[in-house]
Amino acid sequence: MTTIDHCNQAGLRPYQDAKQEMLSQLDNVTQTELVGLDQLLNRVLADDILSPIDVPSFANSAMDGYALSASDYAPYTALTLIGESLAGHPFTGRVSSGECVRIMTGAALPLGADSVVMQEECEVTGPSVSVAGRVRAGQNVRFPAQDLAQGETVFGAGTRINARVLAVLSSLGLEQLYVNRPLTVVVLSTGDELKTPGELLGPGDIYDSNRIGLRAMLQRLGVKVLDYGIIKDDPELIRQALVKAASEADAIISSGGVSVGDADYIKQVLAAVGRIGFWKLAIKPGKPFAFGHINDCPFFGLPGNPVSAAVTFHLLVRPALAKLAGENLAPTVTLQAKALMPFKKTPGRMDFQRGLVSTQSDGSLGVIAAGSQSSGVFSAMAQANCLLHLEQDRGDVAEGELVTLELIDGLYW
Ligand code: AMP
Ligand code: MG
Repeated sequence: MTTIDHCNQAGLRPYQDAKQEMLSQLDNVTQTELVGLDQLLNRVLADDILSPIDVPSFANSAMDGYALSASDYAPYTALTLIGESLAGHPFTGRVSSGECVRIMTGAALPLGADSVVMQEECEVTGPSVSVAGRVRAGQNVRFPAQDLAQGETVFGAGTRINARVLAVLSSLGLEQLYVNRPLTVVVLSTGDELKTPGELLGPGDIYDSNRIGLRAMLQRLGVKVLDYGIIKDDPELIRQALVKAASEADAIISSGGVSVGDADYIKQVLAAVGRIGFWKLAIKPGKPFAFGHINDCPFFGLPGNPVSAAVTFHLLVRPALAKLAGENLAPTVTLQAKALMPFKKTPGRMDFQRGLVSTQSDGSLGVIAAGSQSSGVFSAMAQANCLLHLEQDRGDVAEGELVTLELIDGLYW
């Protein structure tokens, strides 16, 4: 039997080390599939995307106004209006010296014209248009390939397709693309005390929240979820679930049972059916975190405490899923904000406290705690809009000190 040290902080692994080691043990999916534009949201590009066209593909106006040639224009000269160019309805003639064409935003610049004067700067009397100010050649014109040139790399392989990427792909006229196949992930909860919402709670029971939260996060990441429900604290039942899951999924995520309690069986089951990399991490919340493989299937055993489960998912499982999916995950952007209240912090573990950051009247950022920092208080997690990154070795944060934080609103959770 393994002896477990209940209180020693010295054997804890720093977050970045554990993350790098975990990522080095994961391979990305190689299968790709051809998918139509309307199904591409949240998928990961299999190839670099080169623009098939120049964008824009023709010179057009950036303003509503009058198109003319700057070279033959002199201030206050009356120009003769010879026609109009509307978006989708180009003017077919040519603009000669002393002439102009009424033009709308997005309409093709007529032959002979090289500039557009916005209508607010023009005086129009019948068919005659005069311009008071100077005209600079090329003003208010969007030139071909100004945005993207044909053959230019627009997105790299590994880009996750969000709404903005999707819109750009569409602007290139692309209607179907190769993307990596989506991941299939098994989610399960362990715990004799857990009930699914809708069931009656018996003495000592609680509702399962981790599985529902994890499912939602995974769905937003474009993952196909296989929900294995609640598994009792029984090593044989856990073993059966994990073995089946390893044959069906690209990854398995469980919560609960990874700590050092008497009904915590994940570690022993993982050791029996797979390869174990059970870690005690120098992070708070989320000290117990199990990582390993069952056959070739990566396994992530999250702690049961809902805050710990959500935070370790974000810190470790999210990057792991990106690696598996072949996604290039941008490095986390952190900001500095002034602590508007003191924060308790014990040296030894990196602490990801839940915070509410806001812009102060002087324009700077200030942060307060989003309720209780106990890892059992999940409501604070839902109220938070940021995670504070309190360095491993630092102690308490005094009011007025600068702290590092990461915004979490608008992400997948
Ligand atoms: P464990 O990691 O199994 O020791 O659980 C730690 C704490 O998290 C206990 O209070 C559990 O009741 C709670 N817990 C475990 N799993 C869940 C879950 N799926 N949903 C909500 N709370 C849970
Ligand atoms: Mg448990």
